[in-house]
Amino acid sequence: MIQNKYVVGNWKMNGVGAHLEEVRAIAGGAARYRGVDVALCLPATLIHRAADVVPGFPVGAQDVHFEPHGAHTGCLGAAMLVDAGAVLTIVGHSERRERERSAEVRAKAEAAQAAGLDVIVCVGESLEAHEAGATIETVCRLANKSLPEQVGPTRLTLSYEPVWAIGSGSTPSPKEIGWVAGALRDLVDKRFGGQGAGVRILYGGSVNGSNAAEIFAVPNVDGALVGGASLRAIDFLPIVAAAA
Ligand code: PEP
Repeated sequence: MIQNKYVVGNWKMNGVGAHLEEVRAIAGGAARYRGVDVALCLPATLIHRAADVVPGFPVGAQDVHFEPHGAHTGCLGAAMLVDAGAVLTIVGHSERRERERSAEVRAKAEAAQAAGLDVIVCVGESLEAHEAGATIETVCRLANKSLPEQVGPTRLTLSYEPVWAIGSGSTPSPKEIGWVAGALRDLVDKRFGGQGAGVRILYGGSVNGSNAAEIFAVPNVDGALVGGASLRAIDFLPIVAAAA
């Protein structure tokens, strides 16, 4: 199955109303690249406003609670995110995995799917695991435990994000990314059968306009999850262009 590349920005804890101009510029610029799917996962405070500013452009969340509602101070349920205008969410980002286990990540993914959100499940190895040669074992273990039971009913994406590469300026070599992406592709195909072909595998960790083309050329890499370089259109759009 040939699919569009998928380039997703993760703004993390960045952005206030004044930055909606960047959202507008990214959405407008991304529309020029028809063969690439682009989305932005924004802080929850901006989701509603961004959905109004760029109707039709996919705006998402960075996390979701696994319960639909209840006594969970400070948390947001999937239906609340949908109500705010989100169409997707990240789950299991390594900056949150410090506080949550894979079973919780999986429950979040399933709650998001049930509410109609596309889901991006993140997995990645620590520097220690990387240096010990345990990358594939670690990443596959996390993926097996964190992926939801079903591919559907919404779109499922798996993102390989080495913890040591996030925000560090370091990336694995294209060969290393290819080994992991190949292993994740096999895992997804084995786990979901024919439906696995619809699951895109992203790479995330210090992707920028200079290294994106090389990363997108790696077999089994279907796009990127981008942190720092997604905050400004001038940095993000060259990555989208490299995917076209
Ligand atoms: C991320 O946080 O998902 C990420 C990939 O960050 P960065 O691109 O800044 O390394």
